[in-house]
Amino acid sequence: MKTRLLRLRGLLESIDIDALVVSKIENVRYLSGFSGSSAVAVVTPDSSTLITDGRYREQAAAESPHWETVIHAGELSEAVADALTGAKAAGFEVSASFDFHRKLAGAVTHGTALEPTEQLVEGLRCFKDESEIESIRAATECARAAFAQVLPLVKQGTPERQLAAELDYRMMLAGAESPAFDTVVASGPNSSLPHAGVTDRVLAAGDLVVMDFGACRNGYNADITRTVPVGEPDTRARRALEAVKGASRAAIEALEPGCPASEIYQVAHRHLEERGLSEYFTHGLGHGVGLEVHEKPAISARSNDTLDPGMVFTIEPGVYIAGWGGVRFEEMVLMTGAGAEVLTADMD
Ligand code: ZN
Ligand code: ZN
Repeated sequence: MKTRLLRLRGLLESIDIDALVVSKIENVRYLSGFSGSSAVAVVTPDSSTLITDGRYREQAAAESPHWETVIHAGELSEAVADALTGAKAAGFEVSASFDFHRKLAGAVTHGTALEPTEQLVEGLRCFKDESEIESIRAATECARAAFAQVLPLVKQGTPERQLAAELDYRMMLAGAESPAFDTVVASGPNSSLPHAGVTDRVLAAGDLVVMDFGACRNGYNADITRTVPVGEPDTRARRALEAVKGASRAAIEALEPGCPASEIYQVAHRHLEERGLSEYFTHGLGHGVGLEVHEKPAISARSNDTLDPGMVFTIEPGVYIAGWGGVRFEEMVLMTGAGAEVLTADMD
């Protein structure tokens, strides 16, 4: 945590900002260790203040012992403005709500200018340290264990709803704090929706079943997708399964420390194009995963990010054919100095 603060202070100095108001809760947690759901952190060159409310008095003291803790009873914005006293240029995060910004602007004293900042803490969060990687591995293991137990239920007659509930339940038993997001189980024609939910549909022979699930552990997430056929897949389904798996494999094989994310996207896209399926690949190839399920870097055609050692991200090619169905495989990958490590290898 100390190194994180040092890095942030270095960043603030380089952009001439002498205080940062951190309102995104994942950023607060990253810097301070505080895992409650409501707090704002104020970081200056020589102070770090955690502002929260009375519900979290004990938790804040335990989780952020090196931070000055302020328990506010009135307006949060006034407590934040207090912590900014003396600052000339105070940064706020553009992800802050308009309401918070407006109140803060009204509460800061004359002489403090509020400056919008973007992706400062998020930029640091791209590069995971050992403890973060450990938590992500643990989250991945919860999901892996759940999936192995639920796989035998992917058969004719099982409702989507049951599969989703079993995945969530098994992840919790395996040690998850919670599912990382609303588990997706989309079967048959429902699987053509990249962001399907869960319905009352019952699995039928020949269906493709897309399951997108993940566990959260120590605040860190896993995000995994598997597509499983019910019984023997027909030729079209088999081809789609092979094409998407192949696109995933090709993209993963192309990963090298420092490689441009857009090039990796193109590798997967080309693989599907050669099989006449690229028009059905309608989303990006992947995204960073950590305290948020979707964070930097972005792996898409337009991304300017590179994939550097310390980053954890997904590789998730998919094809979605309206009225027929869809296929997606989503792997979790850790980039190291030596190359890419697939955290979800051997999971099918
Ligand atoms: Zn996913
Ligand atoms: Zn994802």
